[in-house]
Amino acid sequence: MIKIKFCGASGGDVTGSKHLIKTNYGNILLDCGLFQGKRDESIEKNKNFPFKPSQLTSVIISHSHIDHIGALPMLGKDNFNGDIFLTKLTSDISKIMLIDSARLQEEDAKFYNKIHKDDGDFIEPLYSEEDVNRIFPLFKVKERFSYFEPVNGLKVKFINAGHILGSSSVIIEVEDKKILYTGDIGREKQIFLKTFDIEKGVDWLIMETTYGNREHGDINDVEKEISSIINKVFDDRGKIIIPGFSLERTQEIIYIIDRLLTYKKIPKIPIYVDSPMSVRITDIFNSNRDEYDFSGSFKDYSKFDKDPFGYDYVHYVSSIEESKKLNDKKGPFIVISASGMCEGGRILHHIRNSIDDERNVLLIVGYQAADTLGRRLKDGAKKVKIFGLYHDVNFEVRSLDFFSSHAGRSDLLTYVKMTHPENIFLVHGENDARESFKELLFENDIKNVFLPDYGEEFEI
Ligand SMILES: [Zn+2]
Repeated sequence: MIKIKFCGASGGDVTGSKHLIKTNYGNILLDCGLFQGKRDESIEKNKNFPFKPSQLTSVIISHSHIDHIGALPMLGKDNFNGDIFLTKLTSDISKIMLIDSARLQEEDAKFYNKIHKDDGDFIEPLYSEEDVNRIFPLFKVKERFSYFEPVNGLKVKFINAGHILGSSSVIIEVEDKKILYTGDIGREKQIFLKTFDIEKGVDWLIMETTYGNREHGDINDVEKEISSIINKVFDDRGKIIIPGFSLERTQEIIYIIDRLLTYKKIPKIPIYVDSPMSVRITDIFNSNRDEYDFSGSFKDYSKFDKDPFGYDYVHYVSSIEESKKLNDKKGPFIVISASGMCEGGRILHHIRNSIDDERNVLLIVGYQAADTLGRRLKDGAKKVKIFGLYHDVNFEVRSLDFFSSHAGRSDLLTYVKMTHPENIFLVHGENDARESFKELLFENDIKNVFLPDYGEEFEI
């Protein structure tokens, strides 16, 4: 008997990835992500797992994004003591991400409680740094491409998912069945990562569908677009402000700028990466440049250039004092800072200091969720509120849609055609995306496709 219970990133949710595989040999949880989004609903789901953590044998982690690992500390608080299997790079990056997640939750709760001081509404952070540190000893690092047995009778193997550094899809073999969980999968053409690996002979595919109804811009144009923006701002002596997600996007941007400098497509312009977490994560990328995850063209460039992440000229800013000095600095320069959706962090100071000057550019290179400052700016707001004060939006807002760590609709179809599974569960997508992709699969004569709801269980 094998059952799969969908405990997150199902029913139209994109976050909170958790899929429980129940077998006679043991119960394996695939990913343990945090729900992000509408506050009350997310808090409820994050606090209450639809399973008992003590009944889990072990957890398998696909990659280090918070919507795939962010609820691990909750398992620890709930007396889970089993193994958490993951790749070395996923382990290294997850540790940074989880500590940051705990700090954000503590800050978030403090802020919420301050605002609601008078109405008696009070929230506690989901977990603390102490809770996070308690789960690290459970991490068990595994190589890709070789099977291991979390319990007797059940074999597991990681293959490359091409989504972010260290990301893997998970293959589970149990009772003559082969299950493939994609985790999140990357695009066929990428900035510097190798594309996803393919596994054949799959009985059940659990597949992400974030972009099940959308395509991305053509990646071949990315260097041309970015160089034209940099050249214009340089001539105008303006500033380019880039809200960058610390993991992957920041490193991609630096790598592109490094190439443009090497091939003399842009002039020497000061570049600041103003985010302590980005600095730590870039160090992990830089010290793993020979890893399997990187594409051949990146490795060739890296050997030739020796410094693809620009350590010899990028100013990696860690201290608050250094960050504040940038406020008075005259252009031209580029600053990459977090948070990626302009909801908090140092990026807000940089926006406030450059928003009124039309020579400056806000360059949006990542997804902006509804109701965030980043989204309002992207949608062309003429006035926005920052730290409680209104500002006219005079700088130019440019948005590039080449950047995505997720497979687009046609990449997803290629993946299914190459894998050729018997049955498919579509998860990690809004309902429009899942339904539209299911239709596309039907048109391609791929029929056994299921859209699981939150908490729904299937016997396979
Ligand atoms: Zn992801």
